[in-house]
Amino acid sequence: MAHPSISRILKDYDPQKITIAAYCSHSSLQIFHGARKEGFRTMGICVGKAPKFYDAFPLAKPDSFLSLKDHAELVDKSDELVRQNAVIIPHGSLVEYLGVDKFEHMPVATFGNRKVLRWESDRAISRKWLEAAGIKMPREIKDPKDIIQPVIVKYNGAKGGRGFFIAKTYHEFQRHVDTTRPYTIQEFVLGTRYYLHYFYSPLKQDGYKLSKGSLELLSTDRRDESNIDESSRLGSIAELEEVGIKPTFVVTGNIPMVIRESLLPEALAMGERVIEKSLDLFGGLIGPFCLETVVTDQLEFKVFEISARIVAGTNPFISGSPYSDFVEPNLSTGRRIAKEIKLGRELNRLTEVLS
Ligand code: ATP
Repeated sequence: MAHPSISRILKDYDPQKITIAAYCSHSSLQIFHGARKEGFRTMGICVGKAPKFYDAFPLAKPDSFLSLKDHAELVDKSDELVRQNAVIIPHGSLVEYLGVDKFEHMPVATFGNRKVLRWESDRAISRKWLEAAGIKMPREIKDPKDIIQPVIVKYNGAKGGRGFFIAKTYHEFQRHVDTTRPYTIQEFVLGTRYYLHYFYSPLKQDGYKLSKGSLELLSTDRRDESNIDESSRLGSIAELEEVGIKPTFVVTGNIPMVIRESLLPEALAMGERVIEKSLDLFGGLIGPFCLETVVTDQLEFKVFEISARIVAGTNPFISGSPYSDFVEPNLSTGRRIAKEIKLGRELNRLTEVLS
């Protein structure tokens, strides 16, 4: 099936009655809260009954729910979504539940450029994009026999770091690897992790200008990962492995961070290069994205992954962050998305921010 063209999809929309829709998880609270602040109606997409937890957070509770039998049913609900003038905000759970293929072909308006999810969902393809943008990434080790320094082994498609392991030697690699699953071996970068949250607007004319539009750095976080982040309480990784406990990298929460101010110019320059390259390659990454980095003791960023959509690491910043406060007070990433849709509508340029 061909990609639906956004002009064709929007033919059936009333731009004055847009409803902002998102799956009920991940970063949905700030998406609904931000949309409501900007005057939009909101819709939560859920499987089964409407989740009760929104009752605990009335300012972030969606105005209505679209209840599905299972995730795949979302595609069958396209007509209803269009009737409600729904713009879907993609986040990590949507991509995981629905899959890139189904999402790409849904004839419903979505925020951002839906082509980007294919570029980000495959490690080899996203590496091509980032390296072409001049981003420094951890070295990839093709042959495990070449492991002469600590590496992290990542299984393809493993969500949230499940099954990843660290090896310092070829012997250790052999001991842990599951050869039935495809994997990549990456240099383990020693340093401190920062997850940088950006927003690219093709519409905004002022601020940190790019060849078209402008870039914002809205916040930074560090992911709290279980069990690796607190395993030192029990002993060293080697000691734990002796008793059969392996380190895992499952995200359980997010910690607000700032980076030292002298790193900000490079943080912005990296975001700029990633966007400029995305404009060349596939018409641009529009809206929020995150570079997942390690900063070494030489104060060098190494980027191990890109998320080309809103990340849950923006959740601590509902009322703004030490960076977004210098752009506009009370600006969450969820609210920033709603503002961009509003600006697109005002300028009659919605097709540039929706797809
Ligand atoms: P998600 O989809 O949730 O972002 P993922 O399964 O794609 O996760 P990564 O984000 O690539 O996995 O890695 C999971 C975690 O492993 C990171 O958050 C980080 O703590 C650690 N990590 C990944 N790559 C490296 C690296 N090259 N050096 C050091 N640590 C790394």
